[in-house]
Amino acid sequence: MQGLIEAAADILIESRSTVALTGAGISVESGIPDFRSAGGLWSRYNPAEYADIGAFRANPEKVWQMLTEMDAIVGQARPNPAHLALGELEDIGLLTCVITQNIDNLHQAGGSKNVIEYHGNSSTLSCLWCGKRFTAAEKRGEIPPRCVCGKILKPDVVFFGEAIPEEALHRSYDFASSAQALLIIGTSALVSPANTIPALAKRSGAKLVEVNKERTHLTDSLTDVFLQGNAGEIMPRIVETVRKKREGITSF
Ligand code: NAD
Repeated sequence: MQGLIEAAADILIESRSTVALTGAGISVESGIPDFRSAGGLWSRYNPAEYADIGAFRANPEKVWQMLTEMDAIVGQARPNPAHLALGELEDIGLLTCVITQNIDNLHQAGGSKNVIEYHGNSSTLSCLWCGKRFTAAEKRGEIPPRCVCGKILKPDVVFFGEAIPEEALHRSYDFASSAQALLIIGTSALVSPANTIPALAKRSGAKLVEVNKERTHLTDSLTDVFLQGNAGEIMPRIVETVRKKREGITSF
């Protein structure tokens, strides 16, 4: 493993523009379950059923049962060493931005400043009928939260069947297509269109470093360096190796 960590660190040091693409797996060690692992929230609420815009429109009360549980879990979660490691990489000038599929705000809490929230954010709620918007804080305790028009509000996260926010889509495209390295952390890369980002970066000449507990369909097709294990253990090791290598370079 140390050899692979060194290879990943070399890629980051040599790259002039590195982007991280993260998925639910990076937040698992913060206590937020991903879609794929057995047990927890998603064994009771099938995401295809509960995270779908058609399901929300048809029965928002039912979907809010899941959203209320998810909010409670996310509200207690704190950034883990993988989030902190990305914040540190940005601080030392080795990470341009994080493109995250997560809606849990843990990258920002972990010190990342340039974060593209590809699937939106749960801190605001909108009315699908009249368009009015509220902060989640002003509706806290109201279950399900309602608009002044009486309809049930939807969090501003992207449900299956909804479009990606245009600005996030364009910024991600620009960063990924000009990146020299892409760090892919804790994503199964099954959810579209976020899963087109690795191929886009690769076509543009980026080296791909993948950190995941399990192999994915990217591992044997696009990935240059695959680090298998928990992101919360691997990411701090990469940052530590980067630091040591840079100290070594500057001490010559
Ligand atoms: P996913 O559930 O499809 O896949 C998670 C991946 O992370 C898997 O490949 C798994 O092997 C890996 N993983 C699990 N624990 C890990 C760990 N400790 N270290 C490294 N890797 C680990 O997640 P996805 O690809 O992000 O797609 C699911 C969708 O669900 C996304 O759109 C995301 O927005 C949403 N989601 C978000 C959250 C969140 O905000 N935290 C949580 C659940 C789902």
